[in-house]
Amino acid sequence: MDAQFTTEELAFRDEVRSFFKAELPERIRIQTAVAASYVSKEYTREWHQILANKGWVAPNWPVEHGGTGWNATQKHIFEEEYQAAQAPRLSPFGLVMVGPVIMAFGTDEQKAEHLPKILSGERFWCQGYSEPGSGSDLASLKTRAVREGDEYVVNGQKIWTSHAHHADWIFALVRTSAEGKKQEGISFLLIDLKTPGIEVRPIISIDGGHYLNEVFFTDVRVPVSNRIGEENKGWTYAKFLLGNERSGVAGVGKSKEKFLRIVSAAKEARGNDGGSLWDDSNFRGRLLEINAKLLAHENTNLRMLAREVAGGTVGPEASQLKINGSEIEQALNELLVEATGIHAAPYDRDTLRVDSNSELVGPEFGRGAMTEHLLRRAASIYGGTNEIQRDIIAKHVLGL
Ligand SMILES: Cc1cc2nc3c(=O)[nH]c(=O)nc-3n(C[C@H](O)[C@H](O)[C@H](O)COP(=O)(O)OP(=O)(O)OC[C@H]3O[C@@H](n4cnc5c(N)ncnc54)[C@H](O)[C@@H]3O)c2cc1C
Repeated sequence: MDAQFTTEELAFRDEVRSFFKAELPERIRIQTAVAASYVSKEYTREWHQILANKGWVAPNWPVEHGGTGWNATQKHIFEEEYQAAQAPRLSPFGLVMVGPVIMAFGTDEQKAEHLPKILSGERFWCQGYSEPGSGSDLASLKTRAVREGDEYVVNGQKIWTSHAHHADWIFALVRTSAEGKKQEGISFLLIDLKTPGIEVRPIISIDGGHYLNEVFFTDVRVPVSNRIGEENKGWTYAKFLLGNERSGVAGVGKSKEKFLRIVSAAKEARGNDGGSLWDDSNFRGRLLEINAKLLAHENTNLRMLAREVAGGTVGPEASQLKINGSEIEQALNELLVEATGIHAAPYDRDTLRVDSNSELVGPEFGRGAMTEHLLRRAASIYGGTNEIQRDIIAKHVLGL
């Protein structure tokens, strides 16, 4: 696919690649390779700062707010190199989600208050959309905000709130009217998590880690000036945000890197017949089949990019990238666990920390394999489940 890039684009790719090689601290790279979902807040902030100093922290922001001014191809190259370099993902909730919403619909005061702090990494955000019973059917959400003078009084509960325990602020969808269509009674609030009446409780996921939370609101007073746009128009802003959330879901760079890791793991791991696992034609066949899907996925991704570069837009077809990206990632994770074999079973989470003294049972390539396998089962659920993505394709692409 490289042949499709121009000389300038290839030079840009080399520049980005060299930057990652020189500037990404090795301990942070290793931590990301071992357990991407559990890179500490300190490491994430340190890397955020390095990118901010370079001016590369917000490729999707307009230049006047601190963006890079890159075109779609450059953003694509940056994203792929980012993943391939095993750099930790920056918290997307500010940079990718609420930041663009504030830019598009926020007041001047909201922009001045929040955008610089998102850009500098000083203020971390989390996303308060889902509720018990309101995930795929998000518009049915029930958390209420009742207006009293210059404030809303918020009562209710959010769930599956990623990294709420690391966040300073939450952007939340709340019900401000029970009349009419359920989409028309929702407002979009920016809420300081230190406000009295907010409680963040951990949810421990299947891999034994703390990534998710429940967030409870009891008589939480939020200034009306913290509302984005108009009252009861929150669904419009929420949908705008979800459109941005899908960017970068293809995960091609990450999966390519994982494929190479499994090839070298298979060469090291013992197979059934005394040779290496790589000599096992069944294992090799399954791995190469996934790689063929990955190449097709990369082509689909580049085709959509080409359309964007030509001035077109990518609409509901992007759902295909989410489905393919998550399924390929999950299939590769399974093969890495398989290559790790019985050593994947004694599951010591302490070995996920690069500075841990705990001794790893089994080969180095298996470090973190089980965590990624278990946690990333959720990749086909979060950001809109794959069933919902298929519904979108059926209705809006195929017209069924
Ligand atoms: C790891 C993780 C992190 C998350 N982080 C956040 C976060 O930070 N903030 C946040 O707000 N939310 C977050 N979520 C929540 C996520 O957005 C929801 O889990 C998701 O939208 C699905 O909603 P649900 O869990 O209520 O499942 P449901 O909507 O109840 O779905 C259950 C099953 O039914 C299927 N289904 C539902 N409706 C249909 C339909 N119409 N057609 C076909 N099949 C259907 C679904 O595909 C799924 O298989 C996270 C979830 C996970 C797992």
